[in-house]
Amino acid sequence: MAQLTALLSVSDKTGIVEFAQSLHAHGIKLLSTGGTAKLLAGAGLPVTEVSEITGFPEMLDGRVKTLHPRVHGGLLARRDVPEHMAALKEHGINTIDLLIINLYPFAQATAKADCTLEDAIENIDIGGPAMLRAAAKNWQDVGVVIDPTDYPQVLAELTASGGASLTRATKFMLAKKVFSHTAAYDGMISNYLTALEAGSEDKTEAVPAREQYPAVFNLQLHKVQGMRYGENPHQSAAFYREAQPAEGLLAGWQQIQGKELSFNNIADADAAWECVKAFDLPACVIVKHANPCGVAVGATPLEAYQKALKTDPTSAFGGIMAFNRPIDADVVEAINANKQFVEVAIAPAFTPAARTAYAGKQNVRLLEVPVSKLSNALDFKRVGGGMLLQSADNIDLVGDVKVVTKVQPTAQQMADLLFSWTVARFVKSNAIVFCKDGMTMGVGAGQMSRLDSARIASIKAGHAGLTLQGTAVASDAFFPFRDGLDVVVDAGATCVIHPGGSMRDDEVIAAADERGIAMVLTGTRHFRH
Ligand code: 5GP
Repeated sequence: MAQLTALLSVSDKTGIVEFAQSLHAHGIKLLSTGGTAKLLAGAGLPVTEVSEITGFPEMLDGRVKTLHPRVHGGLLARRDVPEHMAALKEHGINTIDLLIINLYPFAQATAKADCTLEDAIENIDIGGPAMLRAAAKNWQDVGVVIDPTDYPQVLAELTASGGASLTRATKFMLAKKVFSHTAAYDGMISNYLTALEAGSEDKTEAVPAREQYPAVFNLQLHKVQGMRYGENPHQSAAFYREAQPAEGLLAGWQQIQGKELSFNNIADADAAWECVKAFDLPACVIVKHANPCGVAVGATPLEAYQKALKTDPTSAFGGIMAFNRPIDADVVEAINANKQFVEVAIAPAFTPAARTAYAGKQNVRLLEVPVSKLSNALDFKRVGGGMLLQSADNIDLVGDVKVVTKVQPTAQQMADLLFSWTVARFVKSNAIVFCKDGMTMGVGAGQMSRLDSARIASIKAGHAGLTLQGTAVASDAFFPFRDGLDVVVDAGATCVIHPGGSMRDDEVIAAADERGIAMVLTGTRHFRH
């Protein structure tokens, strides 16, 4: 059996020594570029520098290292075409069977605030993408690895084959990743350059005005699955996930039970998860159609669940539920006792007893997601012919809240106000959220008028048999007139939190004083569309 050759050339050298050690243990010959070769040799591995086989030193500050027929011939020659193999022989070129690469870190370099155009340009990898494309084009003969998360699978297949080969399916999968990767890499460079201000090519200082562009175009999305349909049955849909999500629902998630998740399930699960993560106490969030219809905190997940359900048990049926604490059998038994059908339940963990209690309801999808306080960094929305991009609304309060009325809120009222303010951030605008004792008492969402959101919240509280007397209310944006305030006070609210900043703040504050309630301003608004 001919000895395989691997070429390793990586900028991010994490895990490369261990990987190369395993390749070596499988009898694979190691070829490498300057920095990578030095590291491997330092670890005691026998490694041949590419410059030894090309007969050229690395030159031009590393701009030319591997751009040579001895490298590209070894990658591109088809092993099943006799003329190709004869040409290699004639020119003394050896085949390269495995290529392990990651590229110059353009994204990281350009994300730095002081990155100059020159820094950015030097971080454009030339030889790396050329080798990647060559190897991926010749995927039947070359295994090409750009993603360290693929190292274990590659090693497992090498072990299974006695160091001889990777499976055809794996080589094809790896090649597909390469073209996505090089396309994204070039897209990122193009976007960076396009977003520069005119004339910045003449400047040597840091170039502004790119903001989040590199981060977005650096998203490496992988298709998880096609979906049966999208938001409606006549819409086709697919589900993509970032290669290594650092934050949010898809970071580390695991579906441990239930049918395949639908498009709406995932969207609502995301809404529920982002909301529940915002609380430090044990919390439960029930979502329907992207809006929370019940949110509560309690001493235990069970208490939080029972409170959250009370807000709107009618809407909660068929909802998506998220918890920020592990779930035990008591919660599942309570859900079952309430005959509450749940589409998806999300928690950091479900105990074995909880899973047993849910075992009879295999339709319920259970998702385990580790809690992380990191939130989605970016938010984007498709518009006809383009896209709107923004940093996500993931601040709760900026600085101190300001009491502007003669009546000061009690400590309990302040706690309820802050709770309602947090919930309001996750309710579609116009959002009006009545709360008391760490639970939502009435949620008015998504109305074109703030007055209607207030009225709906109070009607819904009535339907749920809840009284709004003595509640705290959050409004996601200021009250433009006193009428909205009058509606919530008429409904029973005794304290209100909102951003303030209206032309008529004075009039609204005077109305609050006239009605004898406490009013707190946050200075930040939380529109959500
Ligand atoms: P090393 O640290 O091993 O010296 O360099 C590794 C990096 O060099 C990898 O990111 C690889 O993609 C890149 N690279 C390999 N060959 C070439 C080349 O010929 N030109 C350029 N610009 N980069 C190369």
